[in-house]
Amino acid sequence: AVSIDGVQPDTPSPTMKIATLTSGGDSAGMNAVVRAVVKAAILKGCEAWIVREGYEGLVRGNAEAESPPGYVPPSAHYSDFPPAATNIINNLRFGDGELLKDGTGDYASGRTLKGRYIVRVGWDDVRGWFTEGGTLIGTARSKEFRTREGRLAAAYNLIKEGIDALVVCGGDGSLTGADVFRAEWPQLIADLRAQGKISEDQVNKHSHLRIVGLVGSIDNDMSMTDLTIGAPTALHRICEAIDNINSTAFSHSRAFVLEVMGRHCGWLALLAGVAGGADFLFIPEQPPKCQPWEDEMCDAIQQHRQVGKRKTLVIVAEGAHDIDLKPIKAEYVKNILTDRLGLDTRVTTLGHTQRGGRPCAMDRILPTLQGFKAVEVLLDANPETPSYMIGIQENKITTVPLVEAVAMTKEVSTAIEKKDFEKAMRLRDPEFRESLEGFVTTSQLSPTKNFQSRRMRIAIMHMGAPAGGMNAATRAAVRYCISQGHTPLAIHNGFRGLLDDDFEELSWLRVDSWMARGGSELGTNRTLPSVDLGTIASKFQQHTFHALMMIGGFEAFNALQILEEGRKHYPAFHIPMVHLPATISNNVPMTEYSLGSDTSLNALVEACDAIKQSASASRNRVFVVETQGGKCGYIATMGALAVGAVLVYTPEDGMNLDLLKRDVRFLKARYKLDVKGKSEGRLVIRNEVASSVYTTEVITRMFKEEGGTLFDSRSASLGHTLQGGIPSPMDRARAVRLSLKCMAFVERHHELLQQQPQKGRVAGPETAAVITIQSSSVQWVPVQDMVQHADMANRRGKTAWWADMKELVELLVARPQLGALG
Ligand code: ATP
Repeated sequence: AVSIDGVQPDTPSPTMKIATLTSGGDSAGMNAVVRAVVKAAILKGCEAWIVREGYEGLVRGNAEAESPPGYVPPSAHYSDFPPAATNIINNLRFGDGELLKDGTGDYASGRTLKGRYIVRVGWDDVRGWFTEGGTLIGTARSKEFRTREGRLAAAYNLIKEGIDALVVCGGDGSLTGADVFRAEWPQLIADLRAQGKISEDQVNKHSHLRIVGLVGSIDNDMSMTDLTIGAPTALHRICEAIDNINSTAFSHSRAFVLEVMGRHCGWLALLAGVAGGADFLFIPEQPPKCQPWEDEMCDAIQQHRQVGKRKTLVIVAEGAHDIDLKPIKAEYVKNILTDRLGLDTRVTTLGHTQRGGRPCAMDRILPTLQGFKAVEVLLDANPETPSYMIGIQENKITTVPLVEAVAMTKEVSTAIEKKDFEKAMRLRDPEFRESLEGFVTTSQLSPTKNFQSRRMRIAIMHMGAPAGGMNAATRAAVRYCISQGHTPLAIHNGFRGLLDDDFEELSWLRVDSWMARGGSELGTNRTLPSVDLGTIASKFQQHTFHALMMIGGFEAFNALQILEEGRKHYPAFHIPMVHLPATISNNVPMTEYSLGSDTSLNALVEACDAIKQSASASRNRVFVVETQGGKCGYIATMGALAVGAVLVYTPEDGMNLDLLKRDVRFLKARYKLDVKGKSEGRLVIRNEVASSVYTTEVITRMFKEEGGTLFDSRSASLGHTLQGGIPSPMDRARAVRLSLKCMAFVERHHELLQQQPQKGRVAGPETAAVITIQSSSVQWVPVQDMVQHADMANRRGKTAWWADMKELVELLVARPQLGALG
């Protein structure tokens, strides 16, 4: 048992003191970075420190040499715990994190952070930081740090506190500063030694500054990473605003010009344009090609109005300009729309609302993974290794040399200044370019061209349960078809609907508002084509389908497999057929993402934040939250990571008595470590089919019984709420990108097939494929190959890329270390 008896345990000397600072403009997810770095550092046997107010705090340092009054040393001393828990228990709580969270410091008890900028924090000090927007440790733009004297003071303060390594989370300016600091370091300490401010010992100990950068910026303007921390949340805020504006714009048949942040980077404007279904867009990287651009914009919007569109949305990035670099401002765009088209036009400038609010799921998961990686990189660093920046490419956490990333980022601005817009676009990542192509394809309404030679009839169907992004993918496909002279045929209600001839040709306007719609506009069904394969083949023939796109989950994959096998008997199936994975369970083999999984994670985060608040209000309550997800633990595991759950139960790992005993021991140990009267609510996430015996009800009762006076327990089932209401911006944007790739795929294979004589035409196995995201790239996998990777009985892949995340969930609450306490 844990006893609080004042016995000081033997602690191993910490290998390193790691400090984190946040700098530049604040962004959602910065707190998650601090939390992750603090926990990772302590888990690795290090001390965790934070620097308040960015570089300014480094320059100011700590006024007091001694601990200030009221300083709380490691909260309590425990005996009888395994060595693995030593560093966690010794670093449990210093109280400063709490003061930071409260904002001003608890003056009542005389404790304050005044005059202290470099402070030590503990494991529990960063508890609950996840859900807060902005940065609790403060950020600033420091003029002093730009000077050598400022950096000399910063170096002195770091050495004085014995800090060995620094994690800097900020934008390109902050990371440039980090690089300057590191390059100057040897000279700085030589100067400090010469001035007699530091000892020879300190010189030797601090001869090398270990520094790592994490990109925290809403602008998503850093090169060599697909995403910056905070950009996804800002995009959420913008899309929420667009969805709200759309309904009023429609009601009054108005035009809205929306100005969004992003400085010299058009990412937020572009993604908002794609996800919000805007009509026209101005970004710095690619200004309108024609001059005067006013004509181009008015023509495009006029066409939309002529087919009956009642609302108009134009998005202007704050750094937008024309090809001569003359700024394009929202107010001017408004005047043009009013004067030339007679539209009732309003301007909305979102301003700082874009920065604020609760971090979305991605801005909790990404900083957590990157924060852990940052600590690993610091521990491995030596004077020969360069300083790294932690990035992400598609779904892979990357480390890239900081200097290169900073230099490449600057190149974009230089290219824009030199009006070399092609180069600016080339320097952005491929997703940026594809998103712009996607925007153009799905927003333009080109006059019908003569496409006789490749005109196709493309069938589109939804399968399985509804998932966020299904409608957005369909909208993109329909608009692409129209732009290319193909006929988009929407089949309602899956294969059942096809048998009933329930389908329609969709028009450009019909799908206009589908971006933001949840559920499935086409209607979906689980019936597989095997229900009557012969009749289905005859329907393919009767309606002359040249290609089929199925958007859905495991059923769609299964259906594609059946159709492909059916080619042996039915020539009608010798056409290109694709499956675009869309399911909240994310259980389609070989792809790391399915449409809908991001929406679903965000729905889970929102629900769990509310549940956790209620659990915390009752102080010592464990909430067992049940999630959907079929026999795939993706949503439970990633959800647990995104909400900071203490335990997660998945179908892959199952549940048994030993596990539950261990978990009860862990919970008891954890609640005993809480300061009296300051216990927190905790979440346990359980996939609904993790065990047929240890159901949510059973474990809730068990926790209640075993918790005794330490904690009680309640349950909540999220059920269908996880299918999400409005699809997340990420799901919408990804839907467009992947859907257009599907269209290009069917076109390409259709053309190749056309080259064969019509009689006896054979479509090879590569023409029936699933579009997947694997690590850092998008890949096509023939359905035949996919089968080998599928666990058909359990309806999931044989391997799961996220399997290791469960371990991370447990590490973040020290479950392995504290579980052994009992
Ligand atoms: P955001 O993208 O949100 O604006 P940022 O990190 O780019 O964030 P900046 O104001 O450019 O924001 O930089 C933040 C701080 O980093 C500066 O106030 C300064 O203290 C430091 N910094 C920036 N550039 C340098 C530099 N070249 N040398 C030293 N310090 C720098």
